[in-house]
Order: sequence, then structure tokens, then C-alpha cells
Amino acid sequence: MNILTANSPTAELQARDAAHHMHPFTTNADLASKGARVITRAEGCWLTDSDGHRILDAMAGLWCVNVGYGRKELADAAARQMQELPYYNTFFQTTHVPALNLAAKLAELAPGDLNHVFFACSGSEANDTNLRLVRTYWQEKGQPERQVIISRWNGYHGSSVGSGSLGGMKGMHAQGGMPIPGIHHIDQPHWWAEGGDMTPEDFGLARAQELEKAILEIGQDKVAAFIAEPIQGAGGVIVPPETYWPEIQRIVDKYGILLIADEVICGFGRTGKWFGSQTLDIRPDIMTIAKGLSSGYQPIGGSIVSDEIAKVIDATEFNHGYTYSGHPVACAVALENLRILDEEGIVTRVRTETAPYLKEKFESLTDHPLVGEAKIVGMMGSLALTPNKETRAPFQAEAGTVGYITRERCFANNLIMRHVGDRMIISPPLVISRDEIDTLIDRARLSLDEAHAQIEKAGIK
Ligand SMILES: *Cc1c(COP(=O)(O)O)cnc(C)c1O
Repeated sequence: MNILTANSPTAELQARDAAHHMHPFTTNADLASKGARVITRAEGCWLTDSDGHRILDAMAGLWCVNVGYGRKELADAAARQMQELPYYNTFFQTTHVPALNLAAKLAELAPGDLNHVFFACSGSEANDTNLRLVRTYWQEKGQPERQVIISRWNGYHGSSVGSGSLGGMKGMHAQGGMPIPGIHHIDQPHWWAEGGDMTPEDFGLARAQELEKAILEIGQDKVAAFIAEPIQGAGGVIVPPETYWPEIQRIVDKYGILLIADEVICGFGRTGKWFGSQTLDIRPDIMTIAKGLSSGYQPIGGSIVSDEIAKVIDATEFNHGYTYSGHPVACAVALENLRILDEEGIVTRVRTETAPYLKEKFESLTDHPLVGEAKIVGMMGSLALTPNKETRAPFQAEAGTVGYITRERCFANNLIMRHVGDRMIISPPLVISRDEIDTLIDRARLSLDEAHAQIEKAGIK
């Protein structure tokens, strides 16, 4: 077989991709007939494809490239570590320097008494760890009947059997026998789509109180934990009403339920503070981390747990771990990534400069005929597309039709913006500049205009 390169003809790359590569969350047969876009290199917030187009990446890869592409320090950290110690495990009474340093750095950054880290290679794996961790915790505390984990419909916690079960994506549950037993889903605080005539504040309270109802129904002594993203990401960047999290916190405190904040997207500066829990004033017992932890340069995730949980778990043998838990190269890169975020003041700059600027520009898109609301916190935002801003009505066309058309226009205009149903979402690299924000908004507006013209012409309502 000849090895193709980034300079090989696009058609040849696409044909080989279609013949052998199965893409995640994709109807591969459709993609094969169309050809995947081949991304060959990237710098800052910009991707280059095999046809030489320069594309503004308003999704930071998959919500993860927080420091932007092309940071040589991260490549150097990986190369150094590979030469010094490319791999060793931490299972059998051994450790290594990158893992112990990264764990200590995370303890320093994490709020409250979240001081202990169990490493995984992804967010999915970390949430699988959490599932077993909270159940083991209660077992060790002499309450083995506390097994149920409450989570939310349309939450996203990963794609393994365990984490996919914790998540509330019905399309995922329909394939492969999920959810596993012992997971109970409550409704999401998605006011735009589900709030009806209620005010956002009343709706936020009502949705939080579903947690209390569920606890009482299942039995307070049977519930181990509640897991949620501070702001739902993959579900469509759903920013909860302000009343939601304080009420959730009251309920988990009242019933002594462990709170797991899934910070895989919200963590590492995305919301303008180090963690979404700080922005939303939540006090979790466990935080799930991945994505921005290494800015996506290496696959790494983990669970940061409280002193209390660590004390209980550490007293027994926790029969769990991954070959690559705390992989030295991934840890070295993550540590360097955290240094960059910290020393270059990237998180602070997001909070005080670029996120407020982006918010103003992003919210100005609500004057567009297709856009019903614009929601944004830090560097994660969404636009609700609607045929009727007053009633917040969905389109009569199948959900996602207009979102898909809009995303295709963005793609054609060299802007990566995703759609979740008929919500358009962004999550740009945290290093995006004001000029780049202007470009993002200009291209988004142009794409919305084109999508609007296209759906009018096609008679889509
Ligand atoms: C992406 C994501 C995950 C899963 O992480 P992977 O690294 O893809 O396994 C879990 N939780 C949230 C909130 C995510 O956005």
C-alpha cells in the first residue's frame, strides 16, 4: 500500500477514507457518496483542508482546542516525554513524574476540597470511573443499596456503555442495549424548547425540583449521585435559567446525594473561569474532566474527587483502571497546556475581554429573521432557529432540517459551526481574537442569510 500524504489529491484521500474508515456519529454511506472534507493542518483558530481552503474553527475541534492549534510547546513537551519515559503504568505500586505533577496541579486549580485525581483517557472513560466510584463509595460507607444515579435527558456524558447510559441521548439509547440499569433520567432545563408559558425563572425551579421528586420516588436511601453538565454542550449549549443550579445544590445538600459536575466542556476556561462550577456557583463532589485538559493535543481525561471520597475509596482496593490511566506523554502535554492557559492569562482574558466582546456580537444575531434567541456564556454559545420568535415554535419540517442547511452554508463559507437539531452552536478556541470574532460573526450572518433564502425558496416552514 502506498501511504498518502497531506499533499495527495483530495479525491484519492476521500476514496480511501470512504473505503476503510468508519466515522463516529455518521451515516457513513451518505458521507462516502459526498466525500469527507480532509483537514490537513491548523494554526491558531484556523484549519486548512486538502484543497487549500482556510476555515475558521468556531468549534475548537470538538470543544477541546482551548489554546488553539500549532502550539510548539505542546509538541515539544510530548517529544521530550516520549524520549525520557514514553510509557509506564501506575497500577502496581509505581508512579511517574508527569502523573504526580499533573494530579497536584489539578488539585491546585480545582475548587474546594477536590484534591485527588483518577486518570482516564477520555471523558467517557472518566464517567465510567465515576459510575463505579460513587457506587463503591456508598458500598464502603455501609450503604450498598445506594446505587441509582440520576441524570438528565439530552445530557451528554460520553459514548461508552456506561457513560452513554448516564447521558440522555435517546438516539444513542436506541442502539446497543442502553441505558444500563440503575440510571434514572429527569428532564432538562431547556426553557426555549420546553418552557411553554412559564417564565424562565419558574421553569428553572420546576425542572430542578424534578430532582427532588425523583429522589423521593426512588427512595432517598437508594440514590447515589446526580450527574450533570454545568451548561449542556452536545445537547445544544443549553444555558439553564438562573434559578436552576441554586435549587439543584439545595436538593443534593438536603438529601446527601453526591454531585458530579461533568466539566468535560465547561472546564479549563471555557466559561471564563477555570471550571463551569465556579461560574455557576456549584459545589460538586466530583468533576469529570477531559477535552480542554490537554487542549485536545493528547487523549486524556479524569475524575477530580473530594477529600471525603478519596478517604473512603483509598481505604479499599478499587478494582478499576485503564492501561493508559495517567499516560506520561498525555500528562506532560496536559501540564504544559495548563501552564500556557495560566501564564498567558488566557482564562482571565476570556472572562474580561474576549467573551464580553463575543457576547455582544453574538447576541446581535437575534435581529436576524431566523434567530429566536442567542445564549452564550464565556466561549460557548447557541442560536435557536425558529419560524416564529414570539411563540418559539419549531419548524414544521423535520427537526434539524434548517439547522443542517445552515451548517452546510457555514461549511461552504469556511466557518465551522455545528448544529444540534435547529440550534447552531459555537465553542471557539479561547485564544480567538477580536478580529477573528468579527470574521466569525460576519460569516455566521452570511450563512444565516443564505440558509434563509434557501429555505424560503424550497418552501420549508
Ligand atoms: C465530550 C464529552 C464527554 C465524552 O468525552 P470523550 O472524550 O468523547 O469520551 C463527556 N462529557 C461531556 C460533557 C462531553 O462534552
